[in-house]
Amino acid sequence: MNSIPPLPQRLSNSTGRALMVPMLIATLLLLGILVTASMVSDQYRDLPEHIFLIIFLWGIASVSLMYSSFFWRTTTLGKIEWLLTVINGIGLGMLISLLPASFDIITYPLLVIIVMLTAVVYGRYPTYAVIAISTVIHINAHRSLTATFFEIAGLVSLPILSIAAAETIIRMQQVNFRHIARLETINEFSRQISASLDIEQVLPLLNEAIKDAIQADTYYVGILEGDLVKLDLFYDDGEYFYDMTVPAKGSLAGWVLQNNRPLFLPDLRKPLDLEGVERIIIGQDKTSLAWMGVPLQAGDVLGVMAIASYRPNAFDRSDMEMLENLAQQAALVLHNAIHHKSVEEQSRLDSLTGVYNHGYFLKALEGDARQALADAAPLSLIMLDVDFFKQYNDNYGHLAGDEVLIQLTRTIRSHIKSSDAVGRWGGEEFAICLPNTPGDLARQVALRIRETMRNMQIRIQDKTVPSPTVSQGIAVFPIEADEIIRLIDLADKRLYTAKSRGRDQIEPDDSHWSVLKYC
Ligand code: GH3
Ligand code: MG
Ligand code: MG
Repeated sequence: MNSIPPLPQRLSNSTGRALMVPMLIATLLLLGILVTASMVSDQYRDLPEHIFLIIFLWGIASVSLMYSSFFWRTTTLGKIEWLLTVINGIGLGMLISLLPASFDIITYPLLVIIVMLTAVVYGRYPTYAVIAISTVIHINAHRSLTATFFEIAGLVSLPILSIAAAETIIRMQQVNFRHIARLETINEFSRQISASLDIEQVLPLLNEAIKDAIQADTYYVGILEGDLVKLDLFYDDGEYFYDMTVPAKGSLAGWVLQNNRPLFLPDLRKPLDLEGVERIIIGQDKTSLAWMGVPLQAGDVLGVMAIASYRPNAFDRSDMEMLENLAQQAALVLHNAIHHKSVEEQSRLDSLTGVYNHGYFLKALEGDARQALADAAPLSLIMLDVDFFKQYNDNYGHLAGDEVLIQLTRTIRSHIKSSDAVGRWGGEEFAICLPNTPGDLARQVALRIRETMRNMQIRIQDKTVPSPTVSQGIAVFPIEADEIIRLIDLADKRLYTAKSRGRDQIEPDDSHWSVLKYC
């Protein structure tokens, strides 16, 4: 089930007190009128002495305690709010019951206003307690078989009015609280994601935020990939689904993407008025009856964020607003994350050839070597250098030289696996890391590279020129060198030997590997 955060049940100090002011003034005025009425009326003569002074003092004490309750919420006084509520209920019940009927015109509004104050200060349950206690006392005092219709009407209409007034206040407060809770969710979401540059981190945070903010059975974040919308985060009725896709054409998500506009469909039982769009059931085998989706634009990446419910009319415009807000925040962070990822990728690569640069290659080699040790598998390193490249540049120009380096890296890549790594060691020297590869197989790779380079033609400015040859040195980890530095050094030395043997050579030759047998 979705978790909705508990709504705050109390207003903040300043909001609460501001709300109370008109009711406090009304209470004091009504108490004043009550005392004045007692002076001009002779109908209270049978009542106990000083009753109006007691009522007045009780009224003042009661409203002062309510007003100041915002200050002492967390103190001991805060813990006796129920006691104060019960006293208020009894006091009000006795007030209406004791005073003659002619005073009802003052005491009824007084009761309703104190009920409203209780609703603002203490919330729903204490308010109902005040209404219930005062009503029970009121009815008890009037228990008579000869009650007139108007007496009964008076007994019933007062609680009806009180409940209506209290509920209106409580519900308006709840709308307010919900709004505040949503703003807090968005704030919290943007605070948490602002520092995150990783897409993997953004999605779980987004998941939490949607869960907290909107009561939905289904939600997803989809990223457009070609003709499909890939659902990176898909939750349906208590279950997460992975590797889900929907077609970009003809789906609701696709409509949002194509039109780059939010779509609000509160009741899916009504026919869809969207051309070419059909409803598709994904996730659980149930039909959603309310749906809304908003576009998610992050640079070149286009996505959609959608929520759905199995209940029609489960969402209103404020949910839509919330979703749009979350989408805006998410898009910003996704954009940053995607940008960061591409900058990070660029920083690992050599700008001319697109292979790893020296630093990153070394890191990759270290990682692969650790893995090789763990797997007890051989790792081969080939060091490769272009022969007489200075001469080549002098003969054909630097542009032709650059083209050679580009074609050479393509050649290397075409002869190795995707899990192997190539790095530009410097200038026209490259390093190739072949995990899980013994020396004789690495030699096979080197032979294929040499062969391709021997036959390659370089096209430069409508001219075709021959390609230079390459020399290669191979060393195997950990059998020949059990440290990366020594492995590189050995491969480099062998490259130097290959050069000294006349270039276009691979060192060591087959005989070395047939002596050094391992798998
Ligand atoms: P050897 O067979 O002994 O390796 O001779 P070599 O000429 O290749 O070796 P040397 O180290 O003397 O020269 C390397 C040349 O590589 C010098 C430099 O101009 C060229 N070079 C290095 N980086 C680049 C590049 O990015 N583009 C081009 N066009 N040439 C480069
Ligand atoms: Mg060279
Ligand atoms: Mg060199």
